[in-house]
This record gives sequence, C-alpha cells and structure tokens, in this order.
Amino acid sequence: MEETPGVVLAVYAHPDDADVGCGGALARWDKAGCAVHLVVCTDGGKGTTDPDVVPEHLAAERAAELDASSALIGLSSVENLGFPDGQLTDSDGFRCTLVTRVRALRPEVVCGHDPTAMFFGQDYFNHRDHRIAGAALLDAVAPAAGLPHYFPDAGPPHQVSTVLLSGTLEPDEWVDVTDTIETKAAAVECHRTQFSGQSGWAGEAVRDRAAEEGRRAGVAYAEGFRRLNLGV
Ligand SMILES: [Zn+2]
Repeated sequence: MEETPGVVLAVYAHPDDADVGCGGALARWDKAGCAVHLVVCTDGGKGTTDPDVVPEHLAAERAAELDASSALIGLSSVENLGFPDGQLTDSDGFRCTLVTRVRALRPEVVCGHDPTAMFFGQDYFNHRDHRIAGAALLDAVAPAAGLPHYFPDAGPPHQVSTVLLSGTLEPDEWVDVTDTIETKAAAVECHRTQFSGQSGWAGEAVRDRAAEEGRRAGVAYAEGFRRLNLGV
C-alpha cells in the first residue's frame, strides 16, 4: 500500500498488539503527516505466567509500557477502554463504543485483528480477545458506523474507506516498513512484561518476521494485512 491516509484508527485487544501487528505502518504514516489514533480494548492484566503477579499491578505496568511505545510510534492519541484481560464480549455496548470512536475520529483507514485467523500452525491459536475485538471492530465499521439508524446517539455517520487486518493467515496487502523497522522493533521492546527474553530478542523477532513479509512484498521489511475496500 503506497498511499498515506490522513487519519488512521487502530483498534487492538491488548497493549502490545498494535506495535506487533502494525507498528511499522503506523510509524510510517505518522512520519508522513497522518494522524494516527489507537484504541486498546483491555488492560492486559492477565498477561503473565507468574501466579504472584497482581493483575492490577501488571495492568499499570503495561499502561506505562504502552505510553513509552506510543511516543516512539508517534501516536496522536491512545486510549485504553479498560476491559479486563480475557473478558471481551462482542456486545452492543462494546460495538457502540467502537462506533462512537470511529464517528468522532473519522478515519479513512482502520486497522485491527483478523477475526477469522484461528490456528497458526501447531504452536498457537489466536487469543480470544483478538478474535472478539476483530469481529466487533468489523461490525462497528460496517455497516454500523456508516448508517444513521445504528447507534443514533453515537455521533454523525462516517464511512471508513479501507480496513487493514493484521494477524491474518491470508495477507493480500503489504506496507513497506523498511524506513520504520527500527522504530517498530524499539516499540515492541517497550513491552518488557510480555517479551522477557534476553535483551534484544523481541526486536530480532520483529526484524525476522518483517523480513519474511518483505520477501513476499519485494522490499526489505514489510507488514502484511488482509485488505477490505469499503469506500464509496
Ligand atoms: Zn494480544
């Protein structure tokens, strides 16, 4: 994707998800003058294997990590809706909240999780919060945000032009992140509670993954997405 949108809204389940999924693209668009907004749905308080960690304390740590990574990416705004980790539900209330943000920020491009991605090989299946956040976001973007009788008190309708879904098994669009790969790597490294390996491990994993996508896209580093064109 070559074009630079004017306004982008990224909606992701956990504090680290946007940096992992599309941090390079968000940083690229910010550098090009785009207003980039992020909504994080959960507090991430259960993202640990340590039984002695207090979820509220972890959530506070993760909020600080997100502040640091958001500054690196250059986000215009970041908001955490504060749902408990692992407990997102695809409810009218959640979708109304997302519709309200879409109508207020009026993005051309919305980024989020691909809710259809379930099994990634034999080692990982997609987190429930990712699937629910992705499905609720799609339904909030279309048709709800664009039609006045859906959530009539949530602001004037707005039609999003393009949706880019990360964490997808079927990428059909790539953003060249060669110029921002180091920003992305540094942003992902901010989430120390999630990537507690040796220093630099997460950044290396980010570069390896982006290089793999880059080979498919014909550039050094890329992020892959499933693209939906909804514009009129
Ligand atoms: Zn996540």
